Amino acid sequence: MFLRELTMSIDAIKGIGPVAIHALAKRGICSVEALLCHYPRTWEDRSQYIALKDFSSSPVCTVVQVTARDWFFNSRTGKQDLKVYVEDASARGVLVCFNQPFMEKKLVVGKYYWLWGTFQHKFGELQSTSFEVEAVPAETGSHAILDHAASLLAEAPSRCFGRILPVYPLSEGLTQSKLRGFIEQALCRYVSPLENELPWYLIQRHRLLPKSQAIKAIHFPRSMAELEQARQTLIYEEFFYLEVLVGKRAQERRSTQRVQQGLSIRTSRSGPSFPLQYRLLEGLPFTLTPGQTEVIRAINQDMDGPHPMARLLQGDVGSGKTLVSFFAALRGVELGGQAALMAPTELLARQHGENATRLLEPIGIRSAFLSGNIKATGRAQLLKRLAAGEIDLVVGTHALFSKDVQYKNLRLVVIDEQHRFGVLQRQAIMSKGAHPDLLMMSATPIPRTLALTIFGDLDISIIRDLPPGRKPIKTHLARESNEAKVYDFVRDELAAGRQAYFVYPLIEADERKSLKDAQSMATRLAQQVFPQYSVALIHSKLDEEEKRQTMDDFRSGAIRILVATSVVEVGVDVPNASCMVIEHAERFGLAALHQLRGRVGRGETQSYCFLVYSDSQTPGATSAQSSTVLTDEGKARLKVMLENTDGFVIAEEDLKLRGPGQITGTEQAGYLSLGIGDPIRDAPLLERARADAFAMLEGDPNLLQSEHLQVAQVLSRTSPFPV
Ligand code: ADP
Ligand code: MG
Repeated sequence: MFLRELTMSIDAIKGIGPVAIHALAKRGICSVEALLCHYPRTWEDRSQYIALKDFSSSPVCTVVQVTARDWFFNSRTGKQDLKVYVEDASARGVLVCFNQPFMEKKLVVGKYYWLWGTFQHKFGELQSTSFEVEAVPAETGSHAILDHAASLLAEAPSRCFGRILPVYPLSEGLTQSKLRGFIEQALCRYVSPLENELPWYLIQRHRLLPKSQAIKAIHFPRSMAELEQARQTLIYEEFFYLEVLVGKRAQERRSTQRVQQGLSIRTSRSGPSFPLQYRLLEGLPFTLTPGQTEVIRAINQDMDGPHPMARLLQGDVGSGKTLVSFFAALRGVELGGQAALMAPTELLARQHGENATRLLEPIGIRSAFLSGNIKATGRAQLLKRLAAGEIDLVVGTHALFSKDVQYKNLRLVVIDEQHRFGVLQRQAIMSKGAHPDLLMMSATPIPRTLALTIFGDLDISIIRDLPPGRKPIKTHLARESNEAKVYDFVRDELAAGRQAYFVYPLIEADERKSLKDAQSMATRLAQQVFPQYSVALIHSKLDEEEKRQTMDDFRSGAIRILVATSVVEVGVDVPNASCMVIEHAERFGLAALHQLRGRVGRGETQSYCFLVYSDSQTPGATSAQSSTVLTDEGKARLKVMLENTDGFVIAEEDLKLRGPGQITGTEQAGYLSLGIGDPIRDAPLLERARADAFAMLEGDPNLLQSEHLQVAQVLSRTSPFPV
């Protein structure tokens, strides 16, 4: 039996009621397998004796006697609260029981208790407000046990003491103790007969644990060493299957031959020629950067080669990736096929569509735009032409892979801002052609070693240079109380003919009104701050037609100030805009800040970015309520933005600041969403797993039928790494 075959419902667990079932379902846990794969968030080592006097370095884990109790008046709540005085062999302490009157019955003077808790010196006492107690069985209860707490822990472990306890992510309706109970039961009943999924030679080579032991130990380890081994085992296993898939895809790609080779390829005696690409190049008002030239050369080589291209293009914001994709599209057309360029938002897709019309139609390319908002006759016409091969390049959103969309000969798929799309969406668009070439583009860089491992089957290009003449954007921090100065500065820029963005974290005011929002600020900026200039508002709730009109007017200069939410984060390109003002900048993530800042500095004029932050609490708000306090992490992010412009450096700083544990599941790093492994933190394990998986694939061409690939395929349904 394999772990993944434990598909029986969690009803099978004794004592699990509807509330718990509902709570677990909210976390996506419905089967015994899922329950066992709900790994702890952390562990509390309650197997070692930590005396009260050693409270400063870690939580204490000791045996205490209750010596006295006292009620006191809590002026904040207006109620009586209980203080319980305790002592162990080393010191005295006080347990402060806020709002827990039931502790009066639980903690009896003269009796003995296990105690786990964090203590600090306060008001001349050693106090704890966060602790757990458990009565020591009566027969053991004599004063001598205080001196023998360490051996008691080792010899007579109880439910919660004398062992290492898992601490789980919870949802409403669950407690640690209930969840521990359920999982303990599942471990007892189902885990012992589990078979290993990894080949035995790998388990031995890396000194891993057998699967059943690893699962047991990840929840209830007998020692910290065993816990570490269990973690290594499960992480290695996860990476191994990831890499089996990656390696498999690489193999498949290498063995795929093009289905239709160059229907109308125009070759001269010296090799293929590039008439369309040359014509575009001649018409451009600027020359390509060396980075762009190099990528285009690599793309041409791929597209002329015998296997379909699969290339990831990373380039910082403003590095000119769109133009590169146009060159790729032209190559596709030169080779007799069609190209599709897909972007994650309608705004961005439309912008690409307009650029395509402007740059490519003059050289004879028939381009079209398709989104969900194009309806009825227009759409029917377009689809007909697309299917007949009368459109060379179609630009659009997800609509490009709708069921009714057919291509005559889809030769190239370009996916812009690729991290915004899931595997299935990428597969859907790819399936519209017969092994089309694939170019994925992203301005969210990931460290190169990581990219190679995760996208092991892709070729990677990086554009490191920006078009010449770009002046580095000047970034300034400003406190909210100094916003008038920022506004004055922007006014001067507007007077010089430039345009500005103002970005806010919210569309409209929330109940607490603790943050500025785009809607109210659009009114305020228009009426009070910049009455002489035209101001418009754009955010995701407006309909597409309205957004399009606003963007057109901003691009043409009819609108001078664009007030926005992070909808302008991705891709928008208006070179005359020289000011980016981000208010409540401390609320945005680094990747978003970098993208937003990248909206200016796209022309030859000097551009500015103002990060306006609030570091005061809203009057009257308690600290729990107030969302405007500047946290240390918020401060650190602003500092990174102030000191760096390189997107790659910012991405690395971002990973550091967020801490490896938090990488998984975030939007920017969607492709890293694994279960327990973290490709950055666990990089050495990933390297090993990759080497093993690739070696195994080399040695065993029949892997497609094998157990391991099946497991990998099951896993792959849940991890959104690329096609
Ligand atoms: P991104 O890589 O962020 O998608 P874009 O493709 O939107 O960048 O390009 C940013 C701007 O730079 C556009 O206005 C584009 O026309 C311009 N651009 C692209 N390549 C060059 C170049 N070689 N020289 C000058 N400007 C360029
Ligand atoms: Mg772009």
